[in-house]
Amino acid sequence: MPHILDTPIEYLKGISPEKANILKREKNIYTYRDLLEYYPYRYVDRSKFTAISELADANTFVQLKGKFIKLEEIGQNKGKRLVGLFQDESGIIEVVWFNSIKWIKDFIKTQEIYVLFDKPNLFNGKFNFTHPEIETLNSYLNSGKQGYQALYNTSEKMKQKGLDSRGILRLTQQLLQTIKKEDVIEILPSYLLQKYRLPEKYLSTLHIHQPPSLQDQQAALRRMKFEELFILQLQLVRLRLLRTKEQGIILPEVGEYFNDFYHHHLPFSLTNAQKRVLKEIRKDTMGGFQMNRLLQGDVGSGKTIVALLTMLMGIGNGYQAAMMAPTEILAQQHFTSIQELAQPLNLRIEILTGSIKGKKRTAILQALENGEIDILIGTHALIEPTVAFKNLGIVVIDEQHRFGVEQRAQLRNKAEIPPHILVMTATPIPRSLAMVFYGDLDYSVIDELPPGRKPIKTLHRTDAHRLSVYGFMHDEIAKGRQIYVVYPLIEESEKSDLASLMEGYDSLCKIFPRPQYQISIVHGKMKSEFKDIEMQQFVNHKTHIMVATTVIEVGVNVPNASVMVIENAERFGLSQLHQLRGRVGRGAEQSFCILMSGQKLSNESKIRIQTMCDTNDGFKISEVDLDLRGPGNIEGTQQSGDIQLKISNLAIDKAILEEARNAAISLLESDPDLQQAGHAGLKYYFTHQANLKGEWSQIL
Ligand code: ADP
Ligand code: MG
Repeated sequence: MPHILDTPIEYLKGISPEKANILKREKNIYTYRDLLEYYPYRYVDRSKFTAISELADANTFVQLKGKFIKLEEIGQNKGKRLVGLFQDESGIIEVVWFNSIKWIKDFIKTQEIYVLFDKPNLFNGKFNFTHPEIETLNSYLNSGKQGYQALYNTSEKMKQKGLDSRGILRLTQQLLQTIKKEDVIEILPSYLLQKYRLPEKYLSTLHIHQPPSLQDQQAALRRMKFEELFILQLQLVRLRLLRTKEQGIILPEVGEYFNDFYHHHLPFSLTNAQKRVLKEIRKDTMGGFQMNRLLQGDVGSGKTIVALLTMLMGIGNGYQAAMMAPTEILAQQHFTSIQELAQPLNLRIEILTGSIKGKKRTAILQALENGEIDILIGTHALIEPTVAFKNLGIVVIDEQHRFGVEQRAQLRNKAEIPPHILVMTATPIPRSLAMVFYGDLDYSVIDELPPGRKPIKTLHRTDAHRLSVYGFMHDEIAKGRQIYVVYPLIEESEKSDLASLMEGYDSLCKIFPRPQYQISIVHGKMKSEFKDIEMQQFVNHKTHIMVATTVIEVGVNVPNASVMVIENAERFGLSQLHQLRGRVGRGAEQSFCILMSGQKLSNESKIRIQTMCDTNDGFKISEVDLDLRGPGNIEGTQQSGDIQLKISNLAIDKAILEEARNAAISLLESDPDLQQAGHAGLKYYFTHQANLKGEWSQIL
């Protein structure tokens, strides 16, 4: 028998088929449970009254108490309206109705005290109310409303059908009266409720929609967030447990390629962080279980060499390796640098991307299947079903926020025994996001830059300083350095952005005249062959300045470039600024990043620019970015369709998330299959309620 909370929403008293359809379409509310889990976004304190003279803000709900001193119908036909003057001890406010005029007129009595509840409008410099919630003081006092009232997000379409915030609240109240306490099943074990001092489920459900006090509301909210994050972490941690039990290829030794390279061809000695990470990887690859490891390391921290050494471990034991990048440019760059590094080893290394077609493609696929190719580098094209390896042992995935749990699963099917997987990311993401988006992976970090690098100096300058910035650029070029000047181009189609780029290019050409100075230009509107020519000129030091849009964000490595000038820096996001800055500071020279902006800046832009000037630490920057923008807008994470949170916010709820993860880990350590009696609620949840799909269905 289905559970009562699975009842279709149209069965609830007060919901017409029409309303039901709107709830489904607009907010995905199909069942009683969906409605209970449609949580308020805010609360108003309905025990307080605001004095009319103290109205200050048109966007918050307030409650007034007073009498009508005048009520009058004015206007004709469509302009007809009812206007009342409402007075309390402090002042008078106009209240306007356009509909239900007759009903309101009959309802309102002079001398009676009323309670009005609404968001004030600012009209001709004065506040007024239109269509407020209105009731007599007596009815207000008897309504039990004098506490915190929930406010719900609704859409225009919903409002037209009476499903505004108040309408939703009424439905929720109706539902809470319809069901019984036992219908809201407690899924969290009682020892966790005690340990984290969380109210139980039914009470929390009640209090989140109808809080008697602020404390009750906050406790309920914390419980709901904990539950949501805990359930998610249970799944991720369980996936990780299953993975670490999944049979993996055993690499008995590091092999001759690794040894040869490590002892004779390393171009530099490894940093301690690089060595530590290699040890972690080595341990994974000989343990008999499949490796699923996330490697985080800031731009320039030296992940490529770690990737190569990992692949060599596989090759030395007779396996093939693959390396995947999100774009063709990046794949090409990896191909070049891996080929260069591994040159003395005599390996067969190939590149496969979408643009490699015809005979060439067929030949590569053939050689791959025959086991003649040792390392295949490419884009997503590598995991297409037509690409078959002879014996794939190691997969390195670079820069992949875009790679979800499901895609990682696809990869594992490329070989009989799933290959070891190393996911590398250069855009550091905050720990809280990593715990959610990579919660099923083991974690390594390169938290140390190669020696001899001087930290990049970052400065903020406005147009008033432009001449001195040009002077500085002259000096650097005189020292033999090269310079990037980057313009924003959010949408490559935006004409005005392109125009300002060209304008900037023209004025630079005047200040740095030919033939003494040479300037490259690259933007997304150019044909790619011209782009390549311009880039190559800069790479080969034929030009001094590279004027570009963010196309250079990834893919260029010019150690001689020591200055990055970013125009309109206030228009870039933090992670983008950080990535751009990472283009310099690659050589031994002191490098600089100059953030140009207008005089006037929004608060957020100020914080972004200040953060860039204060630190080079990508993790710190990503934390600020998360605080400013919220989790949904952090680069890459919006594409992780696997994970949708209803009530938690990864920017705010870091502490709860940490608790939930710890609780999930210790629970699964003691009871991986949820057999204990105390975990019956959870077991029930995963077998009956949870909507598990694909990879997630491996849970239980
Ligand atoms: P990432 O991919 O992490 O951004 P790379 O692997 O491209 O960084 O390395 C950046 C630069 O640092 C490369 O030029 C590389 O040769 C160099 N490098 C890497 N590790 C070391 C090291 N241990 N000592 C000196 N230079 C290093
Ligand atoms: Mg890299």
